[in-house]
Parts: sequence; C-alpha cells; structure tokens
Amino acid sequence: MATKRDYYEILMVERSATLDDIKKSYRKLAAKFHPDRNPGDAEAIEKFKEASEAFDVLSTPEKKSRYDRFGHQGLEGMGGGAGGGFHDVQDIFEAFGDVFGDLFGGGGGKRRGAGGPRARRGEHLRSQITIDLVEAALGCKRELEIQRHVPCATCKATGAKPGTTPEKCDYCGGHGQVVQSQGFFRVQTVCPACQGAGKVIREKCSDCRGTRFTNTRVKLEVKVPGGVDNEMQIRIGGEGDPGENGGPSGDLYVDIRVKTHPLFQREGRHLVCEVPLTFAQAALGTELEIPLITGQHKLTIPKGTQPGEAFRLKGQGMPDPHGGPRGDLVARVQVEVPKKLTKKHEELLRQLAELDHKHVSAHRKSFFESVKGFFTGEEEE
Ligand SMILES: [Zn+2]
Ligand SMILES: [Zn+2]
Repeated sequence: MATKRDYYEILMVERSATLDDIKKSYRKLAAKFHPDRNPGDAEAIEKFKEASEAFDVLSTPEKKSRYDRFGHQGLEGMGGGAGGGFHDVQDIFEAFGDVFGDLFGGGGGKRRGAGGPRARRGEHLRSQITIDLVEAALGCKRELEIQRHVPCATCKATGAKPGTTPEKCDYCGGHGQVVQSQGFFRVQTVCPACQGAGKVIREKCSDCRGTRFTNTRVKLEVKVPGGVDNEMQIRIGGEGDPGENGGPSGDLYVDIRVKTHPLFQREGRHLVCEVPLTFAQAALGTELEIPLITGQHKLTIPKGTQPGEAFRLKGQGMPDPHGGPRGDLVARVQVEVPKKLTKKHEELLRQLAELDHKHVSAHRKSFFESVKGFFTGEEEE
C-alpha cells in the first residue's frame, strides 16, 4: 500500500482545528479541485478525492479520534477513509452535498440518477449601478437592463434545427457521464462528446447555433435599500441565466457604486461635513445653517470654538442597511484665513495684532507699491 499523506496536511489545517475550520478548508479545496471545474484533469480529481477522504475522517468524531491516536492504521476496517475512501466522485457528492451547499449549484448530492443529463444551475450574472449619496441614504429604485439567456424559441431549447431532433450520444450511451478507471478508483466524469447532455445534435439550430439559448435584453427594477455603500452588492435571486434540465436559475449580483458628495464625506455610517468659519465667527460664536441629507439644521457655534472642533448631530448620518442604528452627522469646524483683505479688514487685524503684542509683517501697501515701482521702472528702460 502506498504511503498516505497526513489528513491534516491534506486539508491544510492545524491538529487543533475546529470542525468549522475543517469544513471551511475542505470547501475551499473541493471548490478548487471540483471535477466540474477541472474537466478531464485526473490529478485534480485525485486531489478532490484525497481531500474528501481526509474530510470524511476529520469530520467524523469517532474516525477522527482513532486517526489522532493511531494514524491511518487506526481506521482499517472502519469503512471509508481506510484506504477505501470513495469509489467515485458521485459518492462524494452524495456524502457531502450539504457541505458544498450551493457552491456548485443545486446541491451535488441529488445528481445521481439513472444516468441522463444532469441538472445544472444557470450562470450568475453581474451588473452595476451608480447612485449618489442622497440616493444611498434614502434608498432608491433603479431600472436596470441586463443581457440574459432565454431558451431558444426556434428550436424549443433543443439546439437542433427545426424538424430534426437531438440523437442519443454514442460515446456515453445517453448517460452524459463516462466511467474511467484511474488506479484505485473508478471515476465518473462528464462525457467529453456531449458535455453531459447525453444527446448530440447533428444539425444545429441556426438561431442559437446549437447552444439552446439566445440572448435577450431584460429590464429589471432594482430596489436599493437605504444605507448602502461602495463595494456592496445586491443579490437578486433567480434573475441570472436559466438553469438546464430542471436546474434552478442563477442569481443576479448588482455592484453598488456611490458617487462622492461635494459636502459630505462618509465614514462608515457617519457623515462628516466641513464647516468653514471665519476667525471672527469662531472667536465670537455664531449660528449657521448646515446641510443635512434632507433639509438643513441650525447649528450654534459657541464662542471660542477651535479649528477642528466637531459637533455631532445624532442620527443624521446614514441608515444601516442591516437594520442597525443610524449614524451621526459630524460637523467639523475649519477656520479659514482670508486670502484677500480689504483695507478695513487689514486695519482691524493690525490693531488686533498690536493688542496681542504680536509682530506682523510690514504694511502690505508699501510692499505692493515698491513692487509696482520696480516693474514700471524696468519697462521704461
Ligand atoms: Zn435554437
Ligand atoms: Zn455523451
């Protein structure tokens, strides 16, 4: 008997891993090496079976405890895991279909049957919408146009030219699956001749070129819940491509993009709004209208407000799309230094500086005058 790899090593988990960790890791490996994703790749199928065997042992308390104490030998005679493992991929689907969940669509466990084409879930589709911050805050509805497969009307989704019918596949005898021997295991894989359909088409339908589906543009209304943020995704169940052979339709995933807003920056649930104040307003206090997502709010700025100081308006931020508490609006004070001064302004500021006993630069007027004189002097030369 060939030396077997350590089950923990196969599943890439620590010996102390929890059942959840083990499951997670197995799902990852199973997804990577799944026969559907690696058609005709014998090595991937081996890896798939190896991971499934390891998972079988490490997820069954009795087998795990024996394996932990006695290694591979401890499992002999227990059936499964003891070198026997799974005879074919279908056994694995039947044993662990519920672990895969909807990873492969429609639960792998129910695939076996007396041959014939397998049910297949339709492809998931993806789309994107861009909304502004107010729409993101209040929630909105958007019409979306997507390209989706529909069963071809010309051939009634058979793929065969009208007047002809698909014929039974000679290669697999109509089972859609072929069995290959690979060393120890018998492996059932999708028939390469008919890709699992069990039937072959001699003369293709010209409308769908034998694919059984045509593309159509579909308009859908998407309801965007209030509080969505960039990178969020809305899943619309069953609005993807239709399934085949009784399989369910795929889903539609809509990526959300929220445009930046000129006044509000988003920090998770909270909104931050910069409030520009003059030095006089900050020093003397004032009352001003600040914008909200809807409407305005009268904000009182007390005397002696400092740059960077923030006023928090509870519940005026973004709603939580998952039903949590609403965020706040943070009004952050920015004290602005004027770039241009009137004569009067300058006069008063100079008086203020004198009062503070602070040194300020020489009077602007004389500076500008001297510059002016300098240039006019140059030009005259
Ligand atoms: Zn057709
Ligand atoms: Zn076939």
